[in-house]
Amino acid sequence: MSNPTEKGSVLLVEDEENIADLVQVYLEREGYKVTKTATGEDAIEAYAAVRPRVVLLDVGLPGIDGIEVCKRIREHGSVPVIMLTARDSEIDKVLGLEIGADDYVTKPFSPRELLARIKAVLRRSETVPTIEVREIAGRSIDRGRREVRHDEEVIALTPKEFDLLWYLTENKGLVLTRDQIMDAVWGYEYYGETRTVDAHIRQLRKKLGDDFPIRTKWGIGYQLEP
Ligand code: CA
Repeated sequence: MSNPTEKGSVLLVEDEENIADLVQVYLEREGYKVTKTATGEDAIEAYAAVRPRVVLLDVGLPGIDGIEVCKRIREHGSVPVIMLTARDSEIDKVLGLEIGADDYVTKPFSPRELLARIKAVLRRSETVPTIEVREIAGRSIDRGRREVRHDEEVIALTPKEFDLLWYLTENKGLVLTRDQIMDAVWGYEYYGETRTVDAHIRQLRKKLGDDFPIRTKWGIGYQLEP
């Protein structure tokens, strides 16, 4: 087993004790250092103190809920956040609002599944960036800075929105199916939950503007027009 400092620390925010304990035991056995909190207020404090590599965040919390906690964490940087959701309505909230979560798992989940998600978000967030800037329809997309600019103004994208946009630029002109996008951007099978793709495309369009050429190919998927 590798030592905990190597894998880094996880902030786990979950008010259901049995779930929190299960996740903690499992992740610690895998070599992560786990800091556990049960309220949103404590989570925000612990976040500042611990500087975790990844945050696991329950949506339904007493007091400040997980959605709000995620937004506040996002104000301070781009640490990967995985939401733990209980109901379909919560998933819609996580996907539909611009809260900037990287991923979510639905309860009940297995610790193993959660670990796979953690590894995937860490892999994506810590890939060594190469200096590369692409110009599309007047937007400059900077891979190294993970930043998009339009008329010198930065368009704030979540980490996942950026990955999705970059993937589209890499395949400019090609029609991509939702499954292809899911696979490439999320890195594993989502069991057909391709509405995640739709939700992120929607956000991209909103942020990049109507004239940005992402086209819907009805019944197939999406295309960044050449
Ligand atoms: Ca809860």
